[in-house]
Amino acid sequence: MTTALTAKPASTNSLLSPEADQASALAAYNGILTIDLDAIVANWRKLEKTAMPAECSAVIKANAYGCGIEPVARALAGAGCKTFFVATLDEARAARAALPQAAIYVLSGFLQNTGEAYAKIDCRPVIGELNELAEWDVFCRRSGWSGGAAIHIDTGMNRLGLTVLEAQGLIPRINAGDHGITLVMSHLVSGEQLNSPVNARQLAAFRQIASFFTGVPASLANSSGIYLGAPFQFDLVRPGAALYGINPTPEADNPMQPVVDLKARIIQIRNVERGETVGYGGTWTARRPTRLAVVAAGYADGYFRAASANDGTRGAEVIVAGKRCPLAGRVSMDLIGVDITDLPPNAARRGHMVTLIGEGITVDELAHHFGTIGYEVLTSLGRRFARVYKGGVPSEAAPSPA
Ligand SMILES: *Cc1c(COP(=O)(O)O)cnc(C)c1O
Repeated sequence: MTTALTAKPASTNSLLSPEADQASALAAYNGILTIDLDAIVANWRKLEKTAMPAECSAVIKANAYGCGIEPVARALAGAGCKTFFVATLDEARAARAALPQAAIYVLSGFLQNTGEAYAKIDCRPVIGELNELAEWDVFCRRSGWSGGAAIHIDTGMNRLGLTVLEAQGLIPRINAGDHGITLVMSHLVSGEQLNSPVNARQLAAFRQIASFFTGVPASLANSSGIYLGAPFQFDLVRPGAALYGINPTPEADNPMQPVVDLKARIIQIRNVERGETVGYGGTWTARRPTRLAVVAAGYADGYFRAASANDGTRGAEVIVAGKRCPLAGRVSMDLIGVDITDLPPNAARRGHMVTLIGEGITVDELAHHFGTIGYEVLTSLGRRFARVYKGGVPSEAAPSPA
């Protein structure tokens, strides 16, 4: 189970201090995922400044990239963010619960017979197909609903969106006014590659079609697109990953602050003799008498098996007592082995926490070991960890001091 431990008030009749209460609540967990809401807000402000005068929205789909949709939405709304994007109606419901005022767009579009659901929570579909548009129009006509929708135009992704030709067919509707379209958008294929020729092609195509949508705000840039420069920013930018600390400019230093810290507990320390192997398959052999910390996190927690250390291939590293230590052996479902031979004796003990993400180990570094991107690392982090939120908007549930 995940719990927002900082948001939970200490019970008033507790004999323990709030800190001790929290410590005892955390003692039951083998992993602690700390999400720094202030860092998310700082990242949003930085993106907003970079994209000025465009509006800076926030993409909070997939549970805010694993960081928690409600606390993240609340923190960003508190900082002044007015427009949010989610992937599904279900996410839109969760977002609306935290965002009484904001505009909320649903990226996956308009499913048949969901008009009432949209109207009920006052959310807007991102329409990416002419059939969807026709069904949405029917719903709006019949119900009198006029909450608005976005039109997604495909400029090269070939995933969602009207073709440019189909979008041209909407121009008379736009010119006639009262069209119900509150945003026109497209999505970049390779925004993180500064020199990809696809960026300029998509920009030209989108700029032309958007210019026909007179009076409708236009949006093209995701996190990386913001860093492609002003021409890509239009009226509204849609960052996701960068809010959560992932580098939007992978060819340069990361301009964003880290957001996530992940610690996991050492549940056993053991000695491994030279020549013995560690873990499934016996793929890692001790080259010296080895001290091994067995840490309670594994691929079921989103710590990918691809990070395993085998004879001849180094795996990921974790930080134990302030020092980087290499994995030893395969990552299993619930456990990893860490070679702590180079630490001073007793620097690490059973019950201590080690750092899997944080203290210089970035989500992007781990993604490299996992053979994937930071997006997949964050959205895979498991449900067995306790969740602690730092900063952000004080929880409404918190009691006023007696
Ligand atoms: C996910 C998504 C974004 C955010 O992309 P990041 O690369 O995470 O900034 C923006 N627009 C659309 C259409 C998306 O699906």
